[in-house]
Amino acid sequence: MLIVKKFGGSSVADNEKILNVARRCIEDYNAGHKVVVVLSAMGKTTDGLIAQAKSINPNPSPRELDMLMVTGEQISVAMMAMAISSLGVPAISLNAMQVKMHTTSTYGKAMFKKIEKERINNELDSGKIVIITGFQGINKFDDFTTLGRGGSDTTAVALAAALHADACEIYTDVDGVYTADPRVVPDAKKLDEITYDEMLELASLGAKVLHNRSVELAKHYGVPIIVRSSLNREEGTIVKEETKMMEGVVVSGVAADKNVAQISLLEVKDEPGMAFKIFDALANKKIDVDIILQSIGRDDTKDILFTVSRSNLSEALEILNKLKDSLGIKKIVTDDKIAKVSLVGAGLRTHAGAAAQMFGVLYNAGINMKMIHTSEIRISVIIDEAYADRATRAVHDSFIC
Ligand code: ADP
Ligand code: ASP
Ligand code: MG
Repeated sequence: MLIVKKFGGSSVADNEKILNVARRCIEDYNAGHKVVVVLSAMGKTTDGLIAQAKSINPNPSPRELDMLMVTGEQISVAMMAMAISSLGVPAISLNAMQVKMHTTSTYGKAMFKKIEKERINNELDSGKIVIITGFQGINKFDDFTTLGRGGSDTTAVALAAALHADACEIYTDVDGVYTADPRVVPDAKKLDEITYDEMLELASLGAKVLHNRSVELAKHYGVPIIVRSSLNREEGTIVKEETKMMEGVVVSGVAADKNVAQISLLEVKDEPGMAFKIFDALANKKIDVDIILQSIGRDDTKDILFTVSRSNLSEALEILNKLKDSLGIKKIVTDDKIAKVSLVGAGLRTHAGAAAQMFGVLYNAGINMKMIHTSEIRISVIIDEAYADRATRAVHDSFIC
């Protein structure tokens, strides 16, 4: 069997944890399997590197920021190779340049295009455990890129797909995927299994246990993912196409995202093409827009409200301020103290009263909703950030406990 095993930052935070991971990988190796290990940077290294970059330049170029961030994963793979060798098993660490993991060009948000298999297969065939940097790639300029925060999960799934691995295991600091973040909702329940679609919604809506692109890739290539703890032997959660939907189970989870900001464009000229010009300008700079609301027009003007990632707010404002006069936007107002709380479940499709129930729960908790967005399998509300955890617990209590 060929097994891809990915360990997150907290699982490799110090020497003792690195040695614990090394032993787990060696168990599979000794059982006769080929083992590819994908690692994140140790502990909070990536946060530290970003702070270091900003300490010398508050607006570092995305290329240089990626060049700096990729060093974090290089430390952990080299340390792991040394740890495994110290336990008597041959191992080699490789970065994205050495493997040739090709991505699109955009720094900080790159997407995999092609992964060369030759070097990995050669090293595996020579009997080594192969340890690969997560989170990074190379682009057509032969520069390092990164995949976005939490992107090592995506590296693992992309490798599992490219190498036709028999298993893709994502090890983290919780026992699997829960019905809500177990650190916020102590009553959250561990799920034995969850569909790609539900996991994709949860991951995209803030449940950082898996990077959303990793779930997208897993669905596309049909790679089942097992999410489990690096600290114990619990079974974990399987993310796959179909699950045994239990009768009466409507909701698979509640997610909260605090990386959200709202932009309100007030008194925009009410004529065709305005929305196109605004959102096209943002899309050209790769700024994703989430919930969009438009008011009914009055006096030949209308308001357009939407949300972006908080990390994109200043860039979005820069673009909008440039367009302000030519598009006749009277005023731009922002709010970056908001959060999005979402209820997710395939059963919501057929559960008519779910939205009313969720709004009732928030009303009873005294929480005001600023925006609402629904799809077939989710209901999201924008609220004050200060209430995010309380809202998550209240919604979870009402639907899941
Ligand atoms: P890693 O460093 O292993 O990649 P992350 O911090 O990226 O770990 O993701 C794991 C964390 O995700 C957990 O510690 C937990 O707080 C958080 N989390 C948020 N939502 C969920 C959920 N629904 N199920 C499990 N964990 C969740
Ligand atoms: N080290 C990167 C981050 O902190 C990637 C990851 O952990 O998946 O975002
Ligand atoms: Mg992660």
